[in-house]
Amino acid sequence: MSEKTIFEQIVAGEIPSYTIYEDEQTYAFLDANPLAPGHTLVIPKEPYERLNDMPPELIGTVFSVAGEVASAVEAAVDAPATTLAINNGEEAGQEVPHVHLHVIPQFEDDDSRPIHTLFRGADLSDEEMEEIAARIRNNQ
Ligand code: 5GP
Repeated sequence: MSEKTIFEQIVAGEIPSYTIYEDEQTYAFLDANPLAPGHTLVIPKEPYERLNDMPPELIGTVFSVAGEVASAVEAAVDAPATTLAINNGEEAGQEVPHVHLHVIPQFEDDDSRPIHTLFRGADLSDEEMEEIAARIRNNQ
């Protein structure tokens, strides 16, 4: 029998958490190392490692819950906005191999930076853009 992920243990109540929401397929709880007050994780209860592994309907369900959670978090901590993010794979910084969507409140005048500032950027010609777009389309 394979070992449970840390988030499965949280869903099972074997590790305590501050629960935000639960239904048959999803669970939401406060991140133990919050990047801002109200930082919440939304997960599928099934331990899919990456978003790409999940059935499309379940992705829809998780994002639907995340939308509700984002509204509730913003209202609860009086935040005008939230950043929603998934570190999708180890090289992207994913530490827990069980899909989780971060819902992180952003406040006016805080010095948190948007996600796009984390990337190096890529200077691509129109031809390169078209070639990449075609390769992606052909891999769908
Ligand atoms: P990742 O880097 O994989 O996207 O994020 C993993 C997140 O899970 C981190 O923000 C970390 O603080 C959170 N986390 C790890 N272990 C626990 C835990 O036992 N309880 C809770 N509530 N959060 C955890």
